[in-house]
Amino acid sequence: MPKVKFYTGIDIPLEFHRARIVQKVRLLPIDERYEALKKGGFNTYRMDSADVYLDMLTDSGTNAMSDLQLAAMMRADDAYAGSESFKRLEKAVFDVLGKRYVVPAHQGRAAENVIMRAFLKPGDVVPMNYHFGSTANHIRINGGRHIDLVAPDVAFTSASDNQFKGNIDIARLEDCIAKYGAEHIPFIRMEASTNLIGGQPFSMANLMEVRKVADRHGIKVLLDACLLGENAWLIIQREPEYAHATLAEVLLKMCSLADIVYFSARKLSCTRGAVIATDNYQDKLKMDQVVAVFEGYVTYGGMSMKEIEAMAQGLYEATDEEYICQNPEFIRYFVNEAVRMGIPMVTPPGVLGAQIDAKKFCDHLPVKDLPASSLAAAIYLCSGVRTMDGGTYQDVSEDDPDFVADMELVRMAFPRKVLTLSQTMYALDRLKWLYDNRKLIGAIRCHDIPGMQRCFRTPMEPVGDWPERLIAKFKQDFPDSL
Ligand SMILES: *Cc1c(COP(=O)(O)O)cnc(C)c1O
Repeated sequence: MPKVKFYTGIDIPLEFHRARIVQKVRLLPIDERYEALKKGGFNTYRMDSADVYLDMLTDSGTNAMSDLQLAAMMRADDAYAGSESFKRLEKAVFDVLGKRYVVPAHQGRAAENVIMRAFLKPGDVVPMNYHFGSTANHIRINGGRHIDLVAPDVAFTSASDNQFKGNIDIARLEDCIAKYGAEHIPFIRMEASTNLIGGQPFSMANLMEVRKVADRHGIKVLLDACLLGENAWLIIQREPEYAHATLAEVLLKMCSLADIVYFSARKLSCTRGAVIATDNYQDKLKMDQVVAVFEGYVTYGGMSMKEIEAMAQGLYEATDEEYICQNPEFIRYFVNEAVRMGIPMVTPPGVLGAQIDAKKFCDHLPVKDLPASSLAAAIYLCSGVRTMDGGTYQDVSEDDPDFVADMELVRMAFPRKVLTLSQTMYALDRLKWLYDNRKLIGAIRCHDIPGMQRCFRTPMEPVGDWPERLIAKFKQDFPDSL
C-alpha cells in the first residue's frame, strides 16, 4: 500500500487483498433511520445491525478474515485437553510475540480479569499511559485504581503534530512510583495504539524508558497488545531508528520489553478470543488457576478451537505489512481529507478509527449536553453509518454525577479489510454535509443507569425537535437520494 504512487498524483490507499465472500448491507431511507434510532434509544450500541449501512462502531470481532484463516479453521482439534490447535497457537505466539507460555481466555476483558485476579491486591495502583474501559473496571472491582500518565497537554489536544501521543510521561511515572511505593504497583501497563485518546501510538524509545524505570523498581511491565500491529507499523513510519525494520522485528522487540503481553483476538489476529503470554512459568501457573475457574480448561480458555486455529494464522498475518497497513492507511486518507474540509479531527491520524473532536464539531453544545452522543446519533441519521460515542457518556464514570471525560470524541472505526474506498468517501461526504449543518445538532440527555459500562445499556433522548429539523434540511438538500 505505501509503495505505489499514482501517475495522476492522487493519494489514495490501495488494497493488497481481494473480496471473495461478501455480505449485503442496506441503506434505509432517512425516515426509517429515524425510527431505527428511536428504537435504539439514540444509543448506537443499542441499534440493530440490520438497520446499519456502514458499521463503524468498532473493530472488535468485525475484521475480515483471510482465506488462510478460514482454511485453518477446518483442522481444529476439539480435544478438551492438550489440543493440537492450542499447540499451534503456542507456536504462533512464540514466533510472533516471542513468549513461551500462553494463557487463553474468551475475550480481552476476560484476560484482564485473569491478570488482575492473579496479581492485583486491594489498595494497589496501576500506572499506565491511558486506561481502556474494561481495564479500568477490572482494576476497580479487584480493589485497585488506575492512574493515567500520558502527558495531558499532548494527549488531550485533538489537533496536534505530536507523533506519539500515547507515550507515558516518564517524570510523572517516577513521581507516581515515589508516591505510592513499588510494593503497591503490580505492574506498569502500556497500551499499544492507546484506544480512548484516538488510537495514538507510543514510541519504542518510550517503551524502553518504561522498561528501565520498571527494572529499577522491580515492577513488571504489562503490555496491552490489542492494537499492537498498528502501533508497530506507526513506529516504522514515524520513528527514524526503525524506518528499515520489519514488522516482525518491531513486534518481537516490543514484546521483549514486557513481562506479560495480552490481547483481545477480536482486534489483533482478526478473530475472537484472547491470549495472555509470558516467559515466566510461575506467573503462567498463577493465571492458569483463574482460567480453570472462570474460562475453561487451560488449553482452550472458553474459546472455540476453530477460532484458536484462525488466531494462530492471524498472528502470523500480523507481521504482514500489506495487511496491517490497511487500517492506518484508510484512516490517514479519511482524516487528511476531513481536515482539508475543515472538520475537526484527532491528528495525527491514529489507528482503529478516524476520530472526530465532538466538542469542536458541536462547539455550540456544552459538555453536559453530551456533544459526542448527539454527534454519533446525528451521523447515523444523515448517513446510516454507525459510529461510537467516545465522550463523557461512554467513559468510566465511577458513578460521579459531575464526571467529565478528558476528551469528547466520536470514533469512526475501520474494521480491518472490510470497507471499500467508495464507502469511505460516502461516510466522508455525509460527515461534511453534517459539518456544514452542525448548528442543527442539539443536546441529548441520558436516562442514567448507574454502574459499569453504562454506555452499552442506557437509552437517551434528544432535547427538543432537532432530529426533525435535521431531517427536513437533509430532504431539502438530497431530494432524490437515500
Ligand atoms: C477491546 C480492547 C480490550 C478488551 O477486549 P475485549 O475483547 O473487547 O473484551 C482491552 N484493551 C483494549 C486496548 C481494547 O481495544
